[in-house]
Amino acid sequence: MKFIIIASITLISIQFQNCNSGKSISNNNTSSMSNAENKPIKSNEELKKQLTDDQYEVTQNCGTEPAFNNAYWNNHKDGMYHCVVCGEPLFSSTAKFDSGTGWPSFDRPFDSLTIKEKIDNSYGTKRTEVVCQHCGAHLGHLFNDGPATTGMRYCINSAALKFDEKKK
Ligand SMILES: [Zn+2]
Repeated sequence: MKFIIIASITLISIQFQNCNSGKSISNNNTSSMSNAENKPIKSNEELKKQLTDDQYEVTQNCGTEPAFNNAYWNNHKDGMYHCVVCGEPLFSSTAKFDSGTGWPSFDRPFDSLTIKEKIDNSYGTKRTEVVCQHCGAHLGHLFNDGPATTGMRYCINSAALKFDEKKK
């Protein structure tokens, strides 16, 4: 009985790993459990305990929080935005700009190695999904209509981020 419960929990967590249900760029070996890509660092149960419902929905189920009604869209403090799931530093406040969209927007990641881009074909549009390289958490989307410095706009959900204010 216990085995069945564990097996079904494992199955659920596998399903949640791939938000685009087979639409990601590198998708030629999805059945392999040894694939290091998006390897969960915590079980589904641990994540549910650690995260709020909104944080869980955004990072694990590719949810999108409401515009202008989230923690950081209008945050102008200096500091670092970390992944809410694994704590990796993702975006510096120096890269944040007012996009007018109601979501935190950045023109570049803190380190390009901490961010992974995937093609997202959901809702009949082709968009670039942005995920945490370390834990695979869904963060938001990338658009090429950003400010002139880089031309990029990382449109990120506050629920995927944890802000650490810089100590003065
Ligand atoms: Zn992460």
